[in-house]
Amino acid sequence: MSATLIDGKAIAATIRGEIRDAVETLQREQGRVPGLATVLVGQRKDSETYVRMKKRACEEVGIVSFGHELPADVSQEALLGVVEELNANPSVHGILVQLPLPDHIDDEAVLAAISLEKDVDGFHPLNIGRLSMKRREPLFVPCTPKGCIELLDRSGIEIGGRNAVVLGRSNIVGLPVAMLLLHRNATLTVCHSRTADLPAMVRQADILVAAVGRPEMVRGDWIKPGAAVIDVGVNAVDDADDPRGYRLVGDVAFAEARQVAGHITPVPGGVGPMTIAMLLKNTLDACARGAGNGDS
Ligand code: NDP
Repeated sequence: MSATLIDGKAIAATIRGEIRDAVETLQREQGRVPGLATVLVGQRKDSETYVRMKKRACEEVGIVSFGHELPADVSQEALLGVVEELNANPSVHGILVQLPLPDHIDDEAVLAAISLEKDVDGFHPLNIGRLSMKRREPLFVPCTPKGCIELLDRSGIEIGGRNAVVLGRSNIVGLPVAMLLLHRNATLTVCHSRTADLPAMVRQADILVAAVGRPEMVRGDWIKPGAAVIDVGVNAVDDADDPRGYRLVGDVAFAEARQVAGHITPVPGGVGPMTIAMLLKNTLDACARGAGNGDS
């Protein structure tokens, strides 16, 4: 048996189309155009690529993007000043400070300075706190975890009452995705580097979310037959046959796992495209709620 592929690229394209339509409607009916500000500190190649992709995705759906590029040695005070300006700018509905920030910057203080109603990355401590509590709705949910749940929902995979196993407990992926699965009434296990007998834990999973950053660590014989496998990992491995000299693989050994799983995401083309689609969705929601206009 071969698993059904969860095509994140196609699902994200559908969502971007929905967002484009909603942006047009918002503009036509209320005269509002969503705006996303990106703040990039320093010249990390990966961060530059992510920011460029986010700006391009904005353009495609009619969201205006405002780019702010600051030197790597920018002071904390100056960076906070930029965030404050963006908080006050009524054309900006979402603010994204690209992580990671240089070591001399207190990233928690920067994330906490972003206006709650413009926190489209969902990393403001209050939004994360609300996500961790029962019956407290965060204004925004972090994009990659939100994308994982969207992939499950749009593939018709039931979450409630099922065993969900999350590999990884980072603030960016593992922890928030675990909270979302719990709120959706999954029975949850969170594994990490100290977990004893990881294969045995993974074999319990009706839904597996892998976010560890270890190339193809999860083997096919760890997977429960019929499970839904969401592979968040993006790892570059050497490949002499690839013109770039490397290829990208997930945290799951795809070829093996696809023989056992019921549904599986590929890498690339699974979770990755969803992250940006969810950022666009959060920005649209921020604008529709009236972020920055004093009427949200
Ligand atoms: P982190 O390095 O912050 O967290 C990794 C987590 O995996 C930690 O909780 C760590 O445990 C756990 N871990 C590491 N090694 C093992 C192991 N051998 N066994 C069990 N658990 C282990 O990574 P991120 O959460 O930021 O990212 C995870 C992956 O997802 C990366 O490949 C990253 O590139 C990818 N990613 C993809 C995105 C996308 O849009 N597709 C977006 C964000 C990330 P401990 O806590 O004990 O250290």
